[in-house]
Amino acid sequence: MVFSLLLHQVALKPIERIKLMLARTQLVSNKIADDEEHPLQAQIEMKVRLELKHDKDFRRALGRSRLSDVTRQDMVEFHLHKFRKQMRYVNANSTFYRDRFKALGLRPEDIVTYEDLLKVPVTEPSDLAEDPYGFLCVSQTEVMRAFTTTGTSGQRKRLFYTQRDVLNIVDSIASAIRNVGMTGNDTLHIMFPAVSAWDPSLMLDSACKVAGLRSKVCSDIDVEKQLQAMRDSQAKVIIGLTSFIYRITVLARDKHDLRAFGVKAIICSSEPLSEAVRHEIEAAWGCKALTQYGMTEMGLATAIECFAQDGIHLDEGNYLCECIDPATGKHQPDRVEGELIWTSLNMQGSPLLRYRSYDLSCYISPPCGCGYTTVGKMGKPKGRINGETKIGLGDKIWPSMFDEAVLGVSGVLGYQVIIDKAGFRDHLTFNVEYHGDASGVPAAIKDKLMALDEIKIGLDSDLIDPLVVEILPERKDFVLKQKTIVDNRPLFDKK
Ligand SMILES: [Zn+2]
Repeated sequence: MVFSLLLHQVALKPIERIKLMLARTQLVSNKIADDEEHPLQAQIEMKVRLELKHDKDFRRALGRSRLSDVTRQDMVEFHLHKFRKQMRYVNANSTFYRDRFKALGLRPEDIVTYEDLLKVPVTEPSDLAEDPYGFLCVSQTEVMRAFTTTGTSGQRKRLFYTQRDVLNIVDSIASAIRNVGMTGNDTLHIMFPAVSAWDPSLMLDSACKVAGLRSKVCSDIDVEKQLQAMRDSQAKVIIGLTSFIYRITVLARDKHDLRAFGVKAIICSSEPLSEAVRHEIEAAWGCKALTQYGMTEMGLATAIECFAQDGIHLDEGNYLCECIDPATGKHQPDRVEGELIWTSLNMQGSPLLRYRSYDLSCYISPPCGCGYTTVGKMGKPKGRINGETKIGLGDKIWPSMFDEAVLGVSGVLGYQVIIDKAGFRDHLTFNVEYHGDASGVPAAIKDKLMALDEIKIGLDSDLIDPLVVEILPERKDFVLKQKTIVDNRPLFDKK
């Protein structure tokens, strides 16, 4: 039933209402008071306490049977215990991991310290794409939902969720939304353009219904219709696709006083949030714009930024996030950039251990300025390892690196960089979609771009042509996830 709720908009029959009420009782996020200052941390700590209550192995590992306050060290022990437990589970149920552990002679008891995690080889997205059933740990009758994702790498991956997995996802989404100030009296306005193959609106809307939170979906690209929908539902928290929220904001702010809506927070989802875009959204709405990070393979809601805006809090009750140096595989120190590696600690359907994200970011230990003391954060994603290319003298560039410069010019709606080779020089054309009077805009964008080291070095060494900025008229439709960098250089060595 929860499964059907997460797939369809259904009118509930009385028996289904009862089932929904029962499902709600299993949610940890619903046991957290509306006035709790740190809902996500409270939910994670509750999971640690429940584990202690129900699992003697954890009590033995911790050397205690009660916890008054959960400390950071308790969290680390919780993660190691859950990792060992998940190793046991996949060893018994997943052919992929059983074969792997057997070949290496690896046992759960071998994982005692945080560094011991490095003994377990990373799982590649290609492993999952090649043999999704090798990861399936339950019978088909226990699978409540199967989901196929292509992701940015283009490989099709199939994932399976049980009812408990779905409830954990609902819990994770609910606590993330509560963490930005949403209460039982508020309405969440969900705005993703209805042009994607898979619409996150339905998932979020259904998750809210299961969690007992009010929500309203509006996918219209028409600015007036979006604003009217917000007025009608008196939305107090907004979640949506970053570029879509940005576009609606730029087009609406001249005609409407967006601050009058009294929105408490805006969650910019599914795409990176540059500081330039954040600034524009915050100035227009008069509230914080926060970023969120999710991975389908981990169950979507994995991290939410807090009001301190210095990193994105991880749902460490459900996931373990490590940051490694992709060249050596070793753990990176706090705040040092590397690749994020994820483990789903509670997943039953397709659990993944040390799964490569190819996302560049960092790990940040608590405490946090928002008052969190036990839950860690990831830094803002810096791009993808395989999304990089090089220009000029071999300086790396990646899809989000021009955001601050180009989107920092007021009125810019979006852009694309085209790289060609003109003789020995790289030729960069920035096609910029603009709203309003564009006089002076190309020069302003060029100034900002030329302040970037990667561009400056290339120009100084005569390996990049003078930059070209073309202004394109405002589009009438919305283009989803346009490729930011189009590299047309033939035989270009991307390594
Ligand atoms: Zn925080």
